[in-house]
Amino acid sequence: MREQQNTIIITGAAGGIGTAFAHHFAQQHANLMLVDLSESALGALKESVLAGGDVKESALQTCVADVSQAEQVREFVSQTKQAFGGVNGFLNNAGIEGTAAAITDYPQETFEQVMAVNVTGVWLGMKYVVPLMKESGGGSIVITSSVGGVMGSPGLSAYVTSKHAVIGIMRTAALECAADNIRVNTIHPGMVDTGMAARIAENTGIGVEVFEEQVKAGTPLGRYAQPEDIVGMVSFLLSDAAAYCTGQQYFVDGGMGAA
Ligand code: NAD
Repeated sequence: MREQQNTIIITGAAGGIGTAFAHHFAQQHANLMLVDLSESALGALKESVLAGGDVKESALQTCVADVSQAEQVREFVSQTKQAFGGVNGFLNNAGIEGTAAAITDYPQETFEQVMAVNVTGVWLGMKYVVPLMKESGGGSIVITSSVGGVMGSPGLSAYVTSKHAVIGIMRTAALECAADNIRVNTIHPGMVDTGMAARIAENTGIGVEVFEEQVKAGTPLGRYAQPEDIVGMVSFLLSDAAAYCTGQQYFVDGGMGAA
């Protein structure tokens, strides 16, 4: 792998996929700004990353922030500048799944909450991280969409809508930012073995085991992804090996989309 970006902001860092990103990029000796909702979860993540011994404490910053709140997004960007002087990697990854119900029964409040985090939150991340990345000479931004960003899923209207929407943010930002040497792409994981996947299985009400069997049957590789399975693609997109890659969707779905 060629040279990686060396200061990276990760939102949703304390979640399943964010944690795998944090460990991987710490092993690459990047400076990390880890953003999530809970101080204790971020503290535990920091401890476990430090225990890996690959990174100094000063290279690991945490910031409690809700990505749907502009002033909190500005705050983690400002703390990144203060700690590291700039940023050249951004994993715009925080997300929530909402509930599972047909559109006719889906609570509007939940729909709006999912939009606030998964769409407004991603957009605010672009709005406030991009200026610092420009100042820093450019970089690479990866937005975590989903296979749900390109296909429907009954019961998950809010989630699916939000994951389609971020492709629009990605394409627009890729066009707006290319001249500033900033690349922007989406990744589209299939079902990944994290707390979110467990909650989705629970929410569907068909039984966790039945749901998991259905997902595996629809996945040619026959299993859920582990969070570490998503890391390789992101590592590539943040690296100079992806210097000509922008404005695109990258699937890590065990073959799900081939059907
Ligand atoms: P997760 O629930 O384990 O982690 C999500 C993290 O985001 C949590 O730590 C949570 O606290 C944080 N978060 C939620 N709302 C936030 C907010 N308003 N501000 C800041 N942080 C917030 O889920 P995950 O599987 O690690 O998901 C990470 C990303 O991957 C999400 O965008 C998700 O939609 C996407 N994704 C997940 C799967 C899957 O099957 N798990 C598949 C495709 C895409």
